[in-house]
Amino acid sequence: MKIAIIGAGLSGIVAAKTLSAKLSGHHGISVFEKSRGAGGRMSTRRTDDFEFDHGAQYFTVRDPAFKAAVDHAIDQGHVNRWDGTTKYLKADGTIEEDKGGKRYVSTPRMNSWIKAMSNGLNIQTQARVSKLVSTDNGWTLKLEDDTAQTGFDTVICAVPSPQAEVLLAPTGFDKIEDITTAKMDACLAVMLGFDKTLNLPWDTLRSPDGPASWIAVNSAKPDRPQTGTTLMIHAGPKWSNNNVERDKSELKAEMITVASRLTGHDLTQAKYGTIHRWLYAAVSQGAGQTYLADDKAKLVACGDWCLGGRVEGAWLSGKAAAELVLKWSDA
Ligand SMILES: Cc1cc2nc3c(=O)[nH]c(=O)nc-3n(C[C@H](O)[C@H](O)[C@H](O)COP(=O)(O)OP(=O)(O)OC[C@H]3O[C@@H](n4cnc5c(N)ncnc54)[C@H](O)[C@@H]3O)c2cc1C
Repeated sequence: MKIAIIGAGLSGIVAAKTLSAKLSGHHGISVFEKSRGAGGRMSTRRTDDFEFDHGAQYFTVRDPAFKAAVDHAIDQGHVNRWDGTTKYLKADGTIEEDKGGKRYVSTPRMNSWIKAMSNGLNIQTQARVSKLVSTDNGWTLKLEDDTAQTGFDTVICAVPSPQAEVLLAPTGFDKIEDITTAKMDACLAVMLGFDKTLNLPWDTLRSPDGPASWIAVNSAKPDRPQTGTTLMIHAGPKWSNNNVERDKSELKAEMITVASRLTGHDLTQAKYGTIHRWLYAAVSQGAGQTYLADDKAKLVACGDWCLGGRVEGAWLSGKAAAELVLKWSDA
């Protein structure tokens, strides 16, 4: 079988890895990724002086199969526990511990685990798929640079749901309505780097939806560079959705003002500061299924949005999508 996987985020890479482990070699498996490398929303921004995990902040583990994969990654040095001090600032102004499961991060950067899993896979980067066309010789993938790759028996579409809809609706994908059921929120993310150490009484501060509803000391995560302090500020989903189209420098200034108040530090003094706009960050409503497949067309959609979001959901969805394709390959 010749298999194409669109998207080199966690779900796409787990699908590719699962298939390549089971099928003879991985010569028939091609991953297409629009950006410069694998990682997707488990990403890290690097500057001359600082590094920021500006997408996923950490992840939790519930499913036993995911736990086994995380334990293996811990043994390999690609994942570690993050036992930081976590606080929740409630709407009434009181602060309590931000409870939840144990937190894990990829090390030394959020994209390191995916990069390690990507070793040996055939990944074509800066290759944005713009169209899927059914031919007598299977599926043809048309790329944004006007080239095309042909002859795929199966295509796994491992991209956020709005992007999956754009690619799959024109093919007549028979579960398209389930894709449109899923809803994803934007997230505005400000990265700040300081030469000096900022003394903060917590490593993460969560607060109600607003311009700075999440502040994390990125440099406090395990195995991060220890010079100075790096902060990640995320606006909440509602605030991000309502403000995503506004001028970036205005948004950055507003988020820094609110975060300065919450931290008690003048964050305008940062040596480095930038803002990133995630259009599809988190899932507010999932599709309620592990993956969506059109058995006749041999097309599968997977990703965190199938199961309601998050790193664990992406892993489970990518794995299950690959297992379905393995069944198709046996048939
Ligand atoms: C700001 C933010 C904070 C988050 N915080 C957390 C958290 O604390 N805990 C947690 O568990 N999760 C968190 N998440 C969610 C987590 O990052 C995702 O659940 C997970 O990384 C999704 O993986 P995925 O493979 O489904 O999708 P993605 O990582 O989005 O991968 C999809 C890939 O497809 C590529 N692509 C898209 N369209 C095309 C195309 N046409 N052609 C080729 N390539 C294409 C994209 O470039 C991307 O690399 C956060 C996400 C964001 C953005």
